[in-house]
Amino acid sequence: MSAKDPAAKPSRRARTRSFQAEVQQLLKLMIHSLYSHKEIFLRELISNASDACDRLRFSAISQPELLGEDAELAIAVDFDADEGWIEVSDNGIGMSEEEAVQQLGTIARSGTSDFLAKLSGDEQQDARLIGQFGVGFYSSFIVADRVEVATRRAGLPAEEGVRWSSDGQGKFTVKAVPRERRGTSVRLHLKEEERGFADAWQLRSLIRRYSDHIAFPVSMPAMQDSKGSDAAGQQEVVNTAKALWTRPKRDISAEEYHEFYRHIAHDSEDPLCHTHNQVEGRREYASLLYIPKRAPFDLFNRESPRGVKLYVQRVFIMDDAEQFLPLYLRFVRGVVDSNDLPLNVSRELLQQNDDVRAMRQALARRVLDMLDRLAKDDSEGYRAFWNEFGRVFKEGVVEDAGNRDRILALLRFATTASQGDGQDATLADYAKRKPAEQKEIYYITAASPAAARSSPQLEVFAQRGLEVLLLSDPIDEWVVGHLGAYEELRFRDITRGALEAGELPGAAPVESGQAAGDADVAGLLARMRSVLGEEVSEVRASARLTDSPSCLALGEQEMGVQMQRILRASGQELPEARPVLEINTGHALFKRLALREGDAELFEDMTRLLHEQAALTQGRELADPGEFVRRVNRLLES
Ligand code: ADP
Ligand code: MG
Repeated sequence: MSAKDPAAKPSRRARTRSFQAEVQQLLKLMIHSLYSHKEIFLRELISNASDACDRLRFSAISQPELLGEDAELAIAVDFDADEGWIEVSDNGIGMSEEEAVQQLGTIARSGTSDFLAKLSGDEQQDARLIGQFGVGFYSSFIVADRVEVATRRAGLPAEEGVRWSSDGQGKFTVKAVPRERRGTSVRLHLKEEERGFADAWQLRSLIRRYSDHIAFPVSMPAMQDSKGSDAAGQQEVVNTAKALWTRPKRDISAEEYHEFYRHIAHDSEDPLCHTHNQVEGRREYASLLYIPKRAPFDLFNRESPRGVKLYVQRVFIMDDAEQFLPLYLRFVRGVVDSNDLPLNVSRELLQQNDDVRAMRQALARRVLDMLDRLAKDDSEGYRAFWNEFGRVFKEGVVEDAGNRDRILALLRFATTASQGDGQDATLADYAKRKPAEQKEIYYITAASPAAARSSPQLEVFAQRGLEVLLLSDPIDEWVVGHLGAYEELRFRDITRGALEAGELPGAAPVESGQAAGDADVAGLLARMRSVLGEEVSEVRASARLTDSPSCLALGEQEMGVQMQRILRASGQELPEARPVLEINTGHALFKRLALREGDAELFEDMTRLLHEQAALTQGRELADPGEFVRRVNRLLES
């Protein structure tokens, strides 16, 4: 080979390099967790070949010479049963040496190491996560103990071909090897026990099943007839080779839709649902949009890719064209194929284009239609959607004012009437269940569903049988703040401001006890206030509590507690505003305080403790946790 050639240039010598640590980790995990889906390697390789053809066709729009004589973009699958290899070749864009090193040796996705750290070691669960992460090229090593890639970047001379090879054990080698044809061949030398894959029938059926939707022809050596007569050299196209979204809906099976989704979304699971539309008239375009079953690990990373795959007149233009969907629908995957946009359209142009803006609105409506259908026909599926993407979807309340009412109808909430912590109530459910005289929608926010549910502020509502929304997503305060009202019913934070027992609907409360006997309640509260000084704005008797001794009410000008936490965590200064301490004057602790009024130290300890308890149940941080613990211990000892 060229390495022995005395005239070989230094670059002709093989260079050995290590995979990025994340790749090594992924390889190990993949081989152990994906053993029951070994055949995915073929789908991944054909998918990469198809991407490579797409990218070349795109580059050829501005540089037609890249295609040259070899203008029919195509994919071929070959094999040798005796030698035990399978090869997937394409005449697409190919890779330069540097690209091969980068793209077949690293994972270019931010957050990968965090993702890998999350894997549990539980095979089933990891298989799911890894699948969702997108295994791609590295899945070759599930079935192969050596992978050889021969490639040449379109536009580079034959001498700049590259051979990449690895046994998947941590290292790979690259060296320059001349290559006549542009594009890439990936040859898998199958492990002894996986040689069964090098079989004409097996490969064909896998291609038909997993890669039929690929828009380029995928060919295989023609089958020999039973007499073994020679069809040598003949190739036969095995797939339909037509862009799926251009085909009539009625001719496409659910399986085909699913496989296409896996290809474009790099997901190993089926999608939750899809919407396929072919629009004619003033604007002509086709769209095929999907909602995944699971959120990608980087859903909340602002930088992570989003948007659709954009085609213009069947020619692939770009991945992640985010201009076609609003931000709150960033979990949607799919394809848009426009007949009107110019082939040389750029991201900048997309941003200013009126057609694109109109399409974005139309596509958002399509997605909302799809979600309406899902909610109506498949409540399990909708719940799955909501659990994965609800937090993002809610942003639509603020972002997409034009569809506000439709979005409101799709929101789901946990409430005091829900079973468990599931978010399953609609605002319409709430409005239907509430007493007629109730003119507000009550809600409470907390750091978790459990914390919301055990808030003391809920007590009087529970006593009167009034339902309260339990909001525990960080963005809920912001969303509800924007909503203001739902069908005339104002949203009301039940922890904010004063609450008079008389203003709530429902029967009068059962008196839970005599209010502190003859003691001077007002005087006691005033004394408590002077103990707490500037920590609270007021101490008052509460109409909220039936069982707990105390709680905090947000001051009228005070920001919600969750929002305070978020802002504080991001280092922002908070405006000065203090809560109100509310006391259950019928509670045994308050009565005890009244009785022991003479003991100044005890009075101060108990007052501070009532305040600290209230702060803790509301998810606030204590100014001095050490002092709190010493105080509790002092009281326990006394
Ligand atoms: P993905 O397809 O999600 O990008 P893969 O692991 O499947 O991830 O592939 C990694 C990268 O390797 C691709 O993004 C591409 O740049 C490169 N690559 C893989 N196969 C080919 C091919 N047949 N032709 C050109 N480049 C390829
Ligand atoms: Mg891939």
